[in-house]
Amino acid sequence: MTAQRLDGKALASTMRGEIAERVSARKQAGKRAPGLAAVLVGDNPASQVYVRNKHKACQQAGIASTIHTLPATTTQKELLALIDQLNADPAVHGILVQLPLPKQIEESAVIRAVSPAKDVDCFHPENVGLLAAGHPRFYPCTPHGVVKLLNRNGIAIAGKEVVIVGRSNIVGKPLAVMLMQKPTAANPAAGDATVTIAHTRTVNLAEVCKRADILVAAVGKAGVITADMVKPGAAVVDVGTNSVEGRLAGDVHPEVWNVAGWLSPVPGGVGPMTITMLLFNTLSAAELIDG
Ligand code: NAP
Repeated sequence: MTAQRLDGKALASTMRGEIAERVSARKQAGKRAPGLAAVLVGDNPASQVYVRNKHKACQQAGIASTIHTLPATTTQKELLALIDQLNADPAVHGILVQLPLPKQIEESAVIRAVSPAKDVDCFHPENVGLLAAGHPRFYPCTPHGVVKLLNRNGIAIAGKEVVIVGRSNIVGKPLAVMLMQKPTAANPAAGDATVTIAHTRTVNLAEVCKRADILVAAVGKAGVITADMVKPGAAVVDVGTNSVEGRLAGDVHPEVWNVAGWLSPVPGGVGPMTITMLLFNTLSAAELIDG
């Protein structure tokens, strides 16, 4: 058996086209273009690539994108002053502070400083709380990308056994919240699934994973999910991005293609979806702020 491809690149392209149409309609109606301000502190090469890719994707969708590049020596006070300025700028609907930040800056203080209305990453505690309470303002980008990848490929989530390996605040934890919740009009991406979260203290990881109809790997270790951990026919979503001998590799071992029913490739799976959902959130922020 060879798994069907959960093609994030193709879906991202379709969804970016849909977003571009909505942006264009807003502009034709005389509204301001949605604006995203990205803040990059220091010279981390991976962060530079992420910010550049997000900027390019914004431009293609008609979203006004600005990049604020600050030196690695920037103080917390200086960064917070820039965030204050962006919070007050009516042309900016979304603010993205690229992580990680240099050591002298406290990440949680920066996350809390971004106006919750412009927090398109959905990292602010107010937005995390709204998500957990079941009436989200935004969905976090990577988990939302995973849900869309499943939904738009016709993979049913309701009632399924989902296992997520990884419990980070960016991926595993919010994805678990989304997938286990009851869908409502205010929370359409909720999954109604039975969700298990696994991590480094999980006993018998292979056995736990093998229960999954939908298995999500958000670990950060190349090839850690092997074929013996996957139920035949399961949908497997690989969030991992690991550098192996200069090439990008997922958390899922290539032998899983022979066991799974569906599998997202790396690259070309979740990565393009994450950026797409950032565009989606920037448009949503503009709709919420400007009407
Ligand atoms: P993270 O904060 O490092 O969390 C990794 C999680 O995996 C932790 O909960 C950890 O458990 C668990 N883990 C590590 N080794 C394990 C093992 N051998 N068995 C079971 N669990 C294990 O990582 P993250 O930020 O969630 O990112 C995960 C991966 O996704 C990375 O490769 C990252 O680059 C990638 N990523 C991709 C995108 C995208 O758009 N494609 C977006 C975000 C992240 P403990 O909690 O017990 O330590």
